[in-house]
Amino acid sequence: MADDDLGHGITVVDTGFQRPFFDASYLLVENGRAAFVDTGTFFSVPNLLAALEAKGLRPGSVDHVIVTHVHLDHAGGAGELLRRLPAATLVVHPRGARHMIDPSQLWAGATAVYGEQAMRLCYGEVVPVPRERVIEAPDGFRLEFAGRPLLFLDTPGHARHHFCVWDERSRGMFTGDTFGLSYPELASPKGAFVLPTTTPVQFEPDALEASIDRLLGFAPQAMYLTHYSRVTGVARLAATLRRQIRQLVALARAEDGRPERGRRLRAGVEQLFLAWALEHGTPLPVPTVRELLALDVELNAQGLEAFLDRDRR
Ligand SMILES: [Zn+2]
Repeated sequence: MADDDLGHGITVVDTGFQRPFFDASYLLVENGRAAFVDTGTFFSVPNLLAALEAKGLRPGSVDHVIVTHVHLDHAGGAGELLRRLPAATLVVHPRGARHMIDPSQLWAGATAVYGEQAMRLCYGEVVPVPRERVIEAPDGFRLEFAGRPLLFLDTPGHARHHFCVWDERSRGMFTGDTFGLSYPELASPKGAFVLPTTTPVQFEPDALEASIDRLLGFAPQAMYLTHYSRVTGVARLAATLRRQIRQLVALARAEDGRPERGRRLRAGVEQLFLAWALEHGTPLPVPTVRELLALDVELNAQGLEAFLDRDRR
C-alpha cells in the first residue's frame, strides 16, 4: 500500500482501484481526530483502515467520511467504511445524499456505463448508509472538524452532485474530479500534467469552467486531486484545463451528426490527449502514455457523447 505524508496533517492513501497512483483517498488528522476525503471502492476499505492504524488512530477516532461526489471511485466504499467507523458521519452533496442512502440507482447507472461483470469485479458492492449518519453539505457549508474549519463549495461541471472542500489550514482544496486528473507518471520538468474529465453523464463545460474559476479565487497553494494526489502551480494548471475543455467541446461539436460519431470521438480524444502529453514533455514513450490514458479516453468520449445528446434536446 502506498501512502504518503503531505504535511498539514494530510496523508494520501492509494485506494488500490485500477492501478497504483490512480485513485486517492485523503486522511486528515487534527488534534487526534480523523476524517477521510473520498473513499475509493468497497475493496479500498482495508487500505484506508490500515492508513488510520499506521497513524496510531482507532476507528472510533474518525469523525467524518467526506465524499466529493457520488461516482463510485470516490464514494463506492463509503457505506462499508462507515460500517467500520462507529463515530463517523458521512458528509455529501445534497444531490448525492439519497444515492448514498439507497445506492440502487447509482449502481444501475454505473452498470449502464461499465457492464454488470466489470461492476462486480471493480466495485464489489455499494453498502447503503443509514440516513441518520448522513450530513448534507450545501454551498457555503462550514464543518468544524476538530477545530479545523472546512468550507464546502458547490462545484458543478463534472457532476451536479460535486462539491470541493477548502481547507484553510493548508490553503489547499480537495477537488475530487472538478480540477481534472493528474497522473504522476506523466509529470515533466514543467510540473504536473493535467487533463479535464468529461465522464458521463453530467459534463457541463460552462459550469466546469466557472467552478474552476471559483476554486482559483481562493488562491490555493495546492489542489488535492483524487486522481492523483497533490498538485501545485495551480494557476498554470487552471489555464491548461480551460483550454483543454474548449478543445474537447470543439472536437465533440465537429464530430456531431457525422457517421461513426462514437468511434471518431474516441480517436479524436486520444489524439488530443497524446498531443497534450507530448507538448508537456511527458517522459514516457507514446504506447505507455496511450495505455495510461486508455480508460480516460473511453470515459471522456462517452461523456462527450452524452453531452451532445443532452445539448440537442
Ligand atoms: Zn467523477
